[in-house]
Amino acid sequence: MNPIKILIVEDEQLVADDLRETLEDLGYIVPALVASGEQAILTAETLRPDLVLMDIRLEGEMDGIEASSEIQSRFNLPVVYLTANADRATLERAKTSQPFGYIVKPFDERILVTTIEIALARHQTEVKVQEALIVAQNNQQIAESKSQKESQQFYMAAHEFRNPLTTIRLSSEMLKAYGGQMSEQRKQNHLDRIVSATDTLTNLLENVLTLGKSESSNFVFNPRAIDVVAFCEEIVHSWQLTLNEQYEVTFAANTKNCIAYLDEQLLWHLLNNLLSNAVKYSPKGSTVSLLLNCEDNSVYLQVKDQGIGIPPEFQAKLFEPFQRASNAATIPGTGLGLAIVKRCVDLHKGEIYVDTILSKGTSFVVQLPLKADTLSVELTSCNYL
Ligand code: ATP
Ligand code: MG
Repeated sequence: MNPIKILIVEDEQLVADDLRETLEDLGYIVPALVASGEQAILTAETLRPDLVLMDIRLEGEMDGIEASSEIQSRFNLPVVYLTANADRATLERAKTSQPFGYIVKPFDERILVTTIEIALARHQTEVKVQEALIVAQNNQQIAESKSQKESQQFYMAAHEFRNPLTTIRLSSEMLKAYGGQMSEQRKQNHLDRIVSATDTLTNLLENVLTLGKSESSNFVFNPRAIDVVAFCEEIVHSWQLTLNEQYEVTFAANTKNCIAYLDEQLLWHLLNNLLSNAVKYSPKGSTVSLLLNCEDNSVYLQVKDQGIGIPPEFQAKLFEPFQRASNAATIPGTGLGLAIVKRCVDLHKGEIYVDTILSKGTSFVVQLPLKADTLSVELTSCNYL
């Protein structure tokens, strides 16, 4: 433990010297002796002692009580008065400055040591309590802003459910009331609307659940060694089958195998959302490509399209839930896909970059660390079901 530094503020040189000797004999360090309140403040600021022993009547304009208030409020240092003034009025004034002790001269050495030690211990406790309070306040602020964000997302999700539900309700009411008199074509149109609204609801529900699950505190992050090349080949193949030659979906990699510690399910969500956007926001007949670059520490996955592009003013909101760009308004979507992608990237401690030109195309690049030991403690401490 470092020796304790005590600053003496005393205008009588003989008393000050005597006090210094006593304190040094007791094992304390006395870095300075000062005679005025003004000097005491300056010295406390530069030397940062552990405690100040302060006389009340001092040289200069300022007395010990004023100097003590200044020192305590500016530097949070404990002050003990050591004074010949034991009258009631001085004591009352001294009390208002909340000292850590009050010793009347001539002092007893044992009382001096006890008062100093109690003052130091009390000050240490107070500092710890103050620190704990700051931490608690910060945590409360974080929790409040998190819960605000969550309730905002909840209301946005509820709002998104309304449109498809209204469509289903209206079309089924129309079929119920006028179905008998409707042409087959009109009936079919209403049924198509119901089916499409149900698809939207299913997609919305799945996305809300995926995002909610990935943000929950008991989310299971489960990285394991996978061959990213084989994984990408499989995903691209399934997209090729689904799209049935309406788009050309290509895949290229700089290596035959690329082993990385990734969460397979999250990687699936990540790639599927990026590929789904690349297809959805591009004209039929265009090419969507997935490129894989396996480097020493990271794997880079690039999804590139020749579609409508993303307006510059929207790019700041790209990864926020329920946000959609103006040029995508007529294309169905819930605005949750990229929020899920970002969450998957963050959980892997990766990065995502976007490069886009309106009406020309978009490229998303995701960088993910290859090795498990580059993942943070936060991830390894996630609960496993
Ligand atoms: P879903 O939740 O069904 O995926 P979405 O596609 O609208 O709906 P996101 O995937 O989060 O939602 O994308 C957010 C918005 O970003 C889109 O609405 C679109 O405006 C824009 N966007 C995303 N990817 C592309 C892209 N490849 N090309 C053009 N715009 C894109
Ligand atoms: Mg999407």
